[in-house]
Amino acid sequence: MHLSRTITGLTGGGSDGWDLFLKARRMIAEGTRVTELTIGEHDVRTAPAILDAMHRAASAGHTGYASVPGTAELRRAVAERLTQRTGVPTTPANVIITPGGQAALFAAHRATCDQGDRALFIDPYYATYPGTIRAVGAVPVAVPTRSRNSFQPDPAEIASRAPGAKSLLINSPNNPTGVVYSRKTLEGIARTCLDHDLWLISDEVYDTQVWDGDHISPRSFPGMAERTLVVGSMSKSHAMTGSRIGWIAGPQDAISHLTTLATHTTYGVPGFIQDAAVFALAQGPALEEEIAAPFRRRRAIALKVLEGQNVVRALPSGGAMYVMLDIRATGLSGDEFGDRLLDAHHIAVMPGESFGQAAAGHVRVAMTVGDDAFRSALTRLVTFAQEIAP
Ligand code: PLP
Repeated sequence: MHLSRTITGLTGGGSDGWDLFLKARRMIAEGTRVTELTIGEHDVRTAPAILDAMHRAASAGHTGYASVPGTAELRRAVAERLTQRTGVPTTPANVIITPGGQAALFAAHRATCDQGDRALFIDPYYATYPGTIRAVGAVPVAVPTRSRNSFQPDPAEIASRAPGAKSLLINSPNNPTGVVYSRKTLEGIARTCLDHDLWLISDEVYDTQVWDGDHISPRSFPGMAERTLVVGSMSKSHAMTGSRIGWIAGPQDAISHLTTLATHTTYGVPGFIQDAAVFALAQGPALEEEIAAPFRRRRAIALKVLEGQNVVRALPSGGAMYVMLDIRATGLSGDEFGDRLLDAHHIAVMPGESFGQAAAGHVRVAMTVGDDAFRSALTRLVTFAQEIAP
């Protein structure tokens, strides 16, 4: 039987960029001790108090079908959080709860793009982006950024690809680069969306992991609340990756249609998970800071380890749980470097090539092991790069 072209063509053919990750997983299964700096998952689990809240809610009977756009309490908590953090007046009617940020990315594109529409996204990108766009039948169009410009998008490059496009997907703080877009960049992006009548899909799942200054949401710029869908998640901010809980915030009309979409797809998110999320959000910024603190510390460790040498260059990492390293001075591609590092030192990193063309010759390091193990792995990575550099 034939499957649809949409589903068989989701990855666009070729490698999906996970070869090295899978090789590391095989080595671990065979008993090799590998330092895993590949995926964006905390080295701590969900806080026991959040699990207790989940258990209490489930035991109290919140295990039936939950309200599809999300419980009133959680929508209110998310709306209040967004109002406080971004200054944009947000009501529960502006919020739909989704099974994680990934489902929100899919739904946001489903809401804004029809079959064959062009959907812009910034390269380098979170690995699922092009596939998510293809999954709704739209055509992914990459807008390149440059290492020498710290991977900040250039509004003129976006504008040159905007004719005929329906949406632009951005992500700040950024996975994979760790770069936080400047106010100037975000204002330029907002202007481009207004000029070209684009929806802005703003993936802000790392909004609690900003190392200098405050998070800026482009939804707060003049004229943008009507054309922005913000994707949020509890995965990174509250170490709740497995709970699959996130949201979209946007215009009321869009949320109402997204609710119809959810009725025909996910049918909502388990009520006991939503109650746990309400509990977690009620803990306020203190818990979010506690979850972000290890990455803040390890980013400082990374900068220290990288001092005083010029073979491995760190991109200015302003947020998220990653540092992007430019290893072009070794003469190797990110793929080759990652493969040789894994073989020689049993350290697994992600090749920049997994995240698009713009990050070729780089590797992404997830700061997701304990401080000492992180320092030691990064020191060995730098020494290895120095040894092989011509
Ligand atoms: N967006 C970005 C940039 C991510 O890095 C991730 C996960 O790593 C997601 C969205 C999806 O997160 P989740 O579906 O766990 O909320």
